[in-house]
Amino acid sequence: MIEIRWHGRGGQGAVTSAELLALAAISEGKFAQAFPSFGPERRGAPVLVFNRVSPNSPIRARVSVAHPDIVIVLDPGLLYITDVTSGLKEDGILVLNTPKSLVEIRSELSGPWRLAVVNATSIAREMIGVPIVNTTMLGALARATRIVELDSLTEPILERFGARARGNVDACRKAYEETETGEPAGIVPKRPKIFEGEELPTWQELLPGCVLTKPGSARQYRTGDWRSERPVWDHQRCIKCGICYLFCPEGCVKQTKEGYFEADLYYCKGCGICARECWTEAIKMVEE
Ligand code: SF4
Ligand code: SF4
Repeated sequence: MIEIRWHGRGGQGAVTSAELLALAAISEGKFAQAFPSFGPERRGAPVLVFNRVSPNSPIRARVSVAHPDIVIVLDPGLLYITDVTSGLKEDGILVLNTPKSLVEIRSELSGPWRLAVVNATSIAREMIGVPIVNTTMLGALARATRIVELDSLTEPILERFGARARGNVDACRKAYEETETGEPAGIVPKRPKIFEGEELPTWQELLPGCVLTKPGSARQYRTGDWRSERPVWDHQRCIKCGICYLFCPEGCVKQTKEGYFEADLYYCKGCGICARECWTEAIKMVEE
């Protein structure tokens, strides 16, 4: 039985990817599970989703996957805020969406597992028109692991996405062609960590950070970590009306001394509302 853990962000479609993978595996006569682990997440928050695929016997385990054979990371920013390799088996494989090359990634992530990389965000933008990489990463997964055949993914994608399916199928196929895979780096693995979700902190341990225990303590909760895009202001177009300031749901747009506006990137989640509401089109969202 192969166990898989997906790392994504709310809104990136990790749950859908896992379901499509399970459907593809089942269409090949295998047994498969797909299930998410949800907390109180909103769009942009890190989420976990799990698969199990067994070639010839029913799957009885119903618990989350702590020691995966395969880890898939949909958002490059997650590499820097969570230990995506936690529990990954030594002969496992890490499949990453990243604009970086295999050589660059290997210098950042040392471990005994195999690596596979693809610039899924760029492929999704080109083929689907939005940076939602779930179906694109299915192509990368098929290439790197052969857990299902590429053709087995087509039917589930067509059924799920209807009129929008073609771009998703094309993105999946392009990622399959462009995924770069490498052998193990042969570097001594990091000291294993306990997977975050498996051991919950007590309320006393949370005290300095994630809960409102005293005035201003929510400021320590760095929601800017969730961002995959950020707003950039064009002062030539800005007429200083302040609409972006009023509409930002995070309250993180600030006025500068010169009267222009900018986002506090410590808290900006990259939702893009400021860019949509700016009527002079002075704000553009750019990839992190
Ligand atoms: S909404 Fe646009 S024009 Fe108005 S202050 Fe913001 S950036 Fe400037
Ligand atoms: S993208 Fe704009 S509206 Fe959204 S959180 Fe950032 S500054 Fe606020």
